[in-house]
Amino acid sequence: MLNKLSDTIYYLSNQDDRERPTLGLVCGDRYSLIIDSGNSPQHAQDFLLEIENLNVSPVKYVVITHAHWDHFLGMNEFDATVIVNSQTNESIKEWKNLSYDDSSLQKYVNTNQMSAMCMKIIQTDMPNRDCFKLKSPDVIFKNKLTIDLGNKICILERIKSTHTDDSTIIYIPDEKVIFLGDCAYGTTTNSLFHYKQSLLLPMIKDIQKYDAEMFLLGHESICDLNEINIYWEELTTASQVVKSTSLENAIEFFKAENKRDPNDNELFFIKAFVNDLIIQSQ
Ligand SMILES: [Zn+2]
Repeated sequence: MLNKLSDTIYYLSNQDDRERPTLGLVCGDRYSLIIDSGNSPQHAQDFLLEIENLNVSPVKYVVITHAHWDHFLGMNEFDATVIVNSQTNESIKEWKNLSYDDSSLQKYVNTNQMSAMCMKIIQTDMPNRDCFKLKSPDVIFKNKLTIDLGNKICILERIKSTHTDDSTIIYIPDEKVIFLGDCAYGTTTNSLFHYKQSLLLPMIKDIQKYDAEMFLLGHESICDLNEINIYWEELTTASQVVKSTSLENAIEFFKAENKRDPNDNELFFIKAFVNDLIIQSQ
């Protein structure tokens, strides 16, 4: 079932057990635009089936928020213009030369080119894939692109992010809605989960320059302004106390600064910022 956010914005909720991120639909008078193409052709088909039941303008554009497989592997299913930023385009290129038969997939997993979860989803949701070739995006932009769907403006911007260096966000001004993809999450490097500390404040600034009230995240679905502000506050407070690779020092510093223990979220973030400094020091 699609969730209706307004008369012109819908989304399909993330489904964690199948590694499916949130997918978005923005409808103008003339065209509709999709945000992220799903983690597989099946995910894309499930979304398209839901859209068919709505009386909306034809889908003309698909924006990919970043080059993680779960956000773009359904791309071929859309008869639409696929739009990415130039960095996303570079990363997707690596997936275009892959083969999708079982033995190739296993080889990619063995060499850490692909996660085991990715292989599992491909095997489950892409039954006919021996000749599968991922298509190329159609429109590549550098930093910013504005699209008019017919009385419905969408602003696409590549922003700084703690998750990847190719994150695109999509802002719909007249609805005060912003699709963030995974940009506000951390990332995993060498099996360590971390938030890129140096990019936290620049990212929050990039997002806060848009006057938004609803925030859609890749694996959470939706947050209101109050919820996202709490999220920024917890991240910022955690980041401020991490000055070395010592978790103990960071927690002590947190207690001294805030006169309380960190809550579960803050503790999770503190660990992730400590991990970031560990990775920086390697
Ligand atoms: Zn991601």
